Amino acid sequence: MKLTKKQKKSLCILLILLVLFLLYRFVLTPKTQPADSDISSVISSSVQSSSAESEGSATGGDLQVHFFDVDQADSILFITPDGYTMLIDAGDSGTKYDLLDKLQTLDISTIDVLIATHPHSDHIGGMQVIVENFEIKNFYLPNAEHTSKTYLKLLDAVTERESIAVHQAKDGVTFDLGQYVSCEMLGPVKDYEDLNDSSAVVRVTYGDISFMMTGDAEIPAETDMLMANDAADFKSTVLKMGHHGSDTSSGNPFLDAVDPQYAIISCGIDNDYGHPNALTLEHLAERKIPTYRTDMLGDIVVTTDGKQITFNKPGQIPDVETEILKYVYVTDNGKTYHRENCSSLS
Ligand SMILES: [Zn+2]
Ligand SMILES: [Zn+2]
Repeated sequence: MKLTKKQKKSLCILLILLVLFLLYRFVLTPKTQPADSDISSVISSSVQSSSAESEGSATGGDLQVHFFDVDQADSILFITPDGYTMLIDAGDSGTKYDLLDKLQTLDISTIDVLIATHPHSDHIGGMQVIVENFEIKNFYLPNAEHTSKTYLKLLDAVTERESIAVHQAKDGVTFDLGQYVSCEMLGPVKDYEDLNDSSAVVRVTYGDISFMMTGDAEIPAETDMLMANDAADFKSTVLKMGHHGSDTSSGNPFLDAVDPQYAIISCGIDNDYGHPNALTLEHLAERKIPTYRTDMLGDIVVTTDGKQITFNKPGQIPDVETEILKYVYVTDNGKTYHRENCSSLS
């Protein structure tokens, strides 16, 4: 049979298409489906390339936030996907060497941003040791006067190190922590006599996930912040409850604006202040917000790729009826709760 010119051309095209199909099917595509982790890394890398230009975007890398158990005090470390670090507060002097150990265990040598939210010793008591043992690039503190020895010695230690850039913490300050994480201060909006209200309040954003860090800011400062900023500036995935869960902080208007999905309370077991306050727990229970407490869980590590968020320990929505009147403890493996006098703990 003799093929016409037109038939020859069609056959040729068909053959080329067949070769291309076989090449694609058996040579260029993998023979098996990638494992889940491979799929996620492919998804992650596509997110990275499409959104790397926009500030605060997810990259596929992880932001880690360590809420250290420093007893009745605060200390929170951020480690960005590209390795930048920010330490907000450094606990009291009683836990300063513990904190030093924890940071060294995490291989931290440089702290890009160190924030003293306010001059109370449960926030800056362990900070002089930090300034003396790490390379600090930027130091933020609010315009608040305090004459305690601990605070003055910290200021001396910072002044001695001329390489540290010192900045005032206040509403409107913004900075990037590395390429992907952005930070905005919402407070203090003015100078206060009350040191707690002077607290630096920082919102940290990575992709779709944000953290509201409040120091010990109390309701008067919260009210001023809400007046001075757009409501949308407050919405955050995770709220570090103000002032260790005191009922003088985290008022309903502030909780409404932040609208957190998760709450962290940094406080010590059986502390003298009765923190967290029953009213605070009640507000969280009403809103069904899973809550993570350092007095019950120890160090809490939050990890996020800018989309998903995971906690290394189980939180719980406060059960106002049963929980407030009884302290409960968590075992070392972070899995089982026990009453204070539970025989299995002895
Ligand atoms: Zn405090
Ligand atoms: Zn305070």
